[in-house]
Amino acid sequence: MKENILSFTRDELKSRFKQIYNLPSYRTEQVFGWLYKDISTFDEMLNVPKKLRENLTQDFFIGQMSVFQSHRSHDGTEKYLLKCVQDDNVIEAVKMEYYHGISACISTQVGCEMGCVFCASGRDGLVRNLSAGEMIGQILAIQKHAKIRISNIVLMGAGEPLQNFEEVMKFLELVHDPQGLNVGYRHITISTCGLVPEIYKLAELNLPITLAISLHSPSDTERSRIMPINKKYPLKDLIYACLAYIKKTKRRITFEYALIKGKNDSIADAEALIKLIKPVFAHVNLIPINTTDTKLRAPDLQWVEKFNEYLNSHGQNATIRRNLGSDINAACGQLRWQYLKKSE
Ligand code: SF4
Repeated sequence: MKENILSFTRDELKSRFKQIYNLPSYRTEQVFGWLYKDISTFDEMLNVPKKLRENLTQDFFIGQMSVFQSHRSHDGTEKYLLKCVQDDNVIEAVKMEYYHGISACISTQVGCEMGCVFCASGRDGLVRNLSAGEMIGQILAIQKHAKIRISNIVLMGAGEPLQNFEEVMKFLELVHDPQGLNVGYRHITISTCGLVPEIYKLAELNLPITLAISLHSPSDTERSRIMPINKKYPLKDLIYACLAYIKKTKRRITFEYALIKGKNDSIADAEALIKLIKPVFAHVNLIPINTTDTKLRAPDLQWVEKFNEYLNSHGQNATIRRNLGSDINAACGQLRWQYLKKSE
């Protein structure tokens, strides 16, 4: 069976090529470099001998995904439905434009089993993990489609990245490789709903990435209601893991807090939030929830600003995140969910 060549790190490719073709390492470097240029077939690798190109075509495929739907927002955000090369599964990715560069938010799994109630990605459960090559394939597809270069990567699309730990770590290596995507670790954010053992595991790797925790409530009762993972790893355990992470990496953590009207947006919630995360010295990103078709609604903007002011005036650093792409269903999983429902 052919393998996705985008899933190989440079070292892995060197040893595989040595093993099957007895190739010197400079040839592997050539092939590896080509993978991150705008090519879709091995025949386009002009300085690679013809025989090797034929062998590569026979043994591998370039798993660049294909964009088959794109939706552009008035604010420049573009959301894509992409098709996996191997099995036609459909996933989502988003391109967002900021003053500091262009970010790609990609998926790490097809579906998700974490079951957060505000998220459309988890509604049909987990289908499968994505490979590192399929994550790279999303970035390459976006770059090709939009004719841009991605400078920041956010693992905040469908799936829980830390549940697909090994492939995500391999993806980070490929992203960071100067011959790969050449995006520095500091420009990469991993978001987790709070898989405590994996936060400790990630801390051990001591990577200078940004870790974002989807917190969304300072109360175990409410958080367990909206994020079932909290029943397994309650807030106390999560905060301990965050403290261990900071101690090891010396990196600041970000807490994502999606404001949901009547659920987590009272002043009492703000007070409890400040108390809970005080020892972590974290930044809070407030996000008025981007509504899916559930009954959950965002508070009005004035209240969001009041909540933000309350946090800041009580010593807790917080900002309101721009709600990008709300006119194109850019919230997690909405586009894929609609596509799947239409195809039923
Ligand atoms: S918010 Fe993230 S972890 Fe929760 S269901 Fe959606 S994709 Fe999964």
